[in-house]
Amino acid sequence: MLEATGLMVFYENMLALNNISLRCGNRSIVGVFGANSAGKSTLMYTLSGIILDIQRKEEMAGGERISVFGEILWQGDSIGHLKASRRARMGIILCPERRRIFPESSVLENLRIGGFLASRKQRKQTLEYVFHIFPKLKEIARRPGGFLSGGEQQMLAIGRALMAQPRILLLDEPLLGLSPLVQVLLVKSITEIRQQRGITILVTEQYARPVMPIVDYAYILENGASVMEGDREELLNNPDVRSAYFGI
Ligand code: ATP
Repeated sequence: MLEATGLMVFYENMLALNNISLRCGNRSIVGVFGANSAGKSTLMYTLSGIILDIQRKEEMAGGERISVFGEILWQGDSIGHLKASRRARMGIILCPERRRIFPESSVLENLRIGGFLASRKQRKQTLEYVFHIFPKLKEIARRPGGFLSGGEQQMLAIGRALMAQPRILLLDEPLLGLSPLVQVLLVKSITEIRQQRGITILVTEQYARPVMPIVDYAYILENGASVMEGDREELLNNPDVRSAYFGI
């Protein structure tokens, strides 16, 4: 289980995360929904540890001061002080917003890069699995990442994250800018990944509607604070939530 308590992140004096607490049980799918700038990416950076890299870079460059507070537990161990690379080795893997594919490397090379910490056997098995859930990637294995459609890039980003052997996958706005048809395909593959690989999934989205059917539990962020939380049925049955967040 991933458990965060009282997360606060300041960019200089700007409060980007305001006392966020969340839990993500093993093998669950948990959603975090919020508008632009609500703090979704900051939350993902904080859980994955990338915020500490950004913080250090800013410090070295004499840039803005980033302050991070709160506690993060992974399977009961405190990890908030650990670097992103350490957390990645423990199975906490971020699939970042806007995919961040290596544009000049082929699909296969992008996937191999994702698996560089894995054993040979894991790499081979996971590559087969990635091609099984995203057969399209096998067809275009030699194509440079920069020549892929948005949907293909997102499949590749998820595939690359899977190659890193996640126990929890942090998916930051995976549906961003994609057609409804591709969204449906990706949402289906997210449930398959949980079912078939037992991977826990924390997913952020601006619009809750496409992802809501597959989440067990969700949080709603506004201006860096969690304003509502509940399991799927609770949120779907709340009339305020329905009209304000799901457009139903
Ligand atoms: P989006 O959907 O646009 O990605 P988000 O919900 O992921 O939004 P964040 O990117 O976490 O939101 O941003 C939260 C707030 O923190 C925003 O007001 C943003 O402008 C601010 N912010 C993010 N990164 C920085 C930074 N490096 N320096 C200063 N402010 C930042």
